[in-house]
Amino acid sequence: MKADLGTIAERLRRAERALVVGHVRPDGDAIGSAAGLALILRELGIEAEACIPDHIPRHYRYIPGTSVVKGVNELRGQGFDTVVVVDSSDISRVGEAAELFPNRPPDVVIDHHITNSGFGELNFCDPNAAATCMVIHELGKILLPHGYSSGIAELLLLGIATDTGFFRHADVDERVFAAAAELSRYGARIRPIAEAILENRTLNTVRLLSEMFRTLVLEEEGRIAYAYLAEEHFRKCGCEGDEAEGFISEIMSLRSVEVGALLVEWPKGEIHVSLRSKGRVDVSEIALALGGGGHPRAAGCSFKGISLQEALELVARELRKGLKKGLGT
Ligand code: AMP
Ligand code: MN
Ligand code: MN
Repeated sequence: MKADLGTIAERLRRAERALVVGHVRPDGDAIGSAAGLALILRELGIEAEACIPDHIPRHYRYIPGTSVVKGVNELRGQGFDTVVVVDSSDISRVGEAAELFPNRPPDVVIDHHITNSGFGELNFCDPNAAATCMVIHELGKILLPHGYSSGIAELLLLGIATDTGFFRHADVDERVFAAAAELSRYGARIRPIAEAILENRTLNTVRLLSEMFRTLVLEEEGRIAYAYLAEEHFRKCGCEGDEAEGFISEIMSLRSVEVGALLVEWPKGEIHVSLRSKGRVDVSEIALALGGGGHPRAAGCSFKGISLQEALELVARELRKGLKKGLGT
């Protein structure tokens, strides 16, 4: 059932032990919204835990509030009366965390993906919100009208900053700056976030980036760009799979590119595809066609059981179709 934030706030106030879950292959918005909401609930006196069902890339750990996030194994055997899923377009995105749920759909789903399937008991999805953390901030103001701690504010600013590409994307509007200003008034600082996310590459990571550019293919006068990183590249550079985070933006930094893809094989045999568009191509449609989801300008999908070469061909074919449609040719 679709619900407004007032109804969701009422439901959450009735919780005694709440679990807030973000998605696998977490980004700043999944981590910030899960940790931020769990801490907001704790300020209300509710016992709340935040869970990310996957490895958390090391650089997020530089933001102090992220230390509340637990893995699935640490939370097994605990009974939760309320389950909230954030920043996830469908139930498969919560991975193994589903094992922690009571035998029913999540009680509350809060999201901003246009592809959200509405898999909760109460669903709030605002595709116009630049980040799930924007929605958590609105909910936070209902639950805690006198404001909340700087730690929570910084977690929410983390999600807003990362999902907007540090206030660069087309969905950055007055609402985003107003939320950022409020969070800043609560004591959130952008500098530690920028340092943790943008200025934290090792030399090995930069070497991996140069390996990626060796595999870059340009088509249609450079309007389509795709590249890959195989497991061997990571091993050769001494890098972990999560170190390619943000590399897709380097592809999109090319002037000619309208639509881009990066295929990352990690671990061996598993391929994750990041898709981005500068606006004319809807990559959420491409991702859906490939079994994934996301937003019109940023989406993704995953493959298992096919080779990197096969995956590249599948993706390239959808990129060509998407560009044709987007340009109306
Ligand atoms: P990424 O390229 O992994 O940063 O993902 C870009 C966007 O697409 C994010 O909003 C993700 O939540 C979404 N996304 C990525 N992979 C998937 C997937 N397999 N299924 C649904 N949504 C996805
Ligand atoms: Mn996300
Ligand atoms: Mn998000």
